[in-house]
Amino acid sequence: MSLKNILGDCEVCRQIEALINSRRLPHAVVIESKDTELAQRTALELAKSCVCSGEIIRPCGKCINCKKSAEGIHPDIYTVKITDKKQAVGIGEIRTMISDCFVKPNEAQSKVYLIFDKMTTEAQNALLKILEEPPQNVQFIIVTESSTILLQTVLSRSTVFKVGDSDTAENNIKDEKAEEIAVEIAFAIPDNMELPLLIATGKLISDKLLMQKVLERLSEYLSLALEEKYFKTGKYPQHITELSRTLRKRSLIKLLDTVSQAQKMLSQNCNMNLLVTWLCANIRQSRHIR
Ligand SMILES: [Zn+2]
Repeated sequence: MSLKNILGDCEVCRQIEALINSRRLPHAVVIESKDTELAQRTALELAKSCVCSGEIIRPCGKCINCKKSAEGIHPDIYTVKITDKKQAVGIGEIRTMISDCFVKPNEAQSKVYLIFDKMTTEAQNALLKILEEPPQNVQFIIVTESSTILLQTVLSRSTVFKVGDSDTAENNIKDEKAEEIAVEIAFAIPDNMELPLLIATGKLISDKLLMQKVLERLSEYLSLALEEKYFKTGKYPQHITELSRTLRKRSLIKLLDTVSQAQKMLSQNCNMNLLVTWLCANIRQSRHIR
């Protein structure tokens, strides 16, 4: 397996390979992709290169380090794991990682730390300190579906590689699904029954990217509904004309603000259950403004 097998012959692949083979890979790397599996495979391949003792091309696939990493048993490749059924990597896990960073590698020339799960803000702030003054021979590889989830301060001390085509079939399917749910929510907003809104928003709890796409569409529908309130063009689909017909201008404006706040909360890595609950409560309040 090589990076080319994973990413295909693309510019980002060539860039990463050149950095690895010239021993110039920055100490903190962010692999960004909407395709989580692709990002994780890329990260593991990078980790393999970092511990490989090959002379020219790394990973060589032949040395003892390569063999151990291929089996997933290399003692110098660590994956930071979430403990206690939490939803994100917390400060405790990062502190454990940091103290481990200062211990010399066991077998390879360097140690690699992989972070596959999202991190709390506190965890990212703790990570920041070690990114600012990293010990020698330590490599951090962070995987994220969107770099907007990470703190700007963390990003500024890392090198971000965006991998995978954003216009993949999977992405298209997600777009369709987002459209469907956003329309469902748009119809549920003026409805006084709570259940349709709860059902529609409940579908977003486990999928941050889907939530992001749904919020984008909701914001668009609400803006169009507001425009329709003034111009009465009658040219929009039913879910938009219904919003425009049943809600007051002030409600629409408040709803737009609610969606925009939800987008902000999402980008700040907030808990998804809390975000959905908050969104429902605020939609309920906004729609009855007189
Ligand atoms: Zn090797």
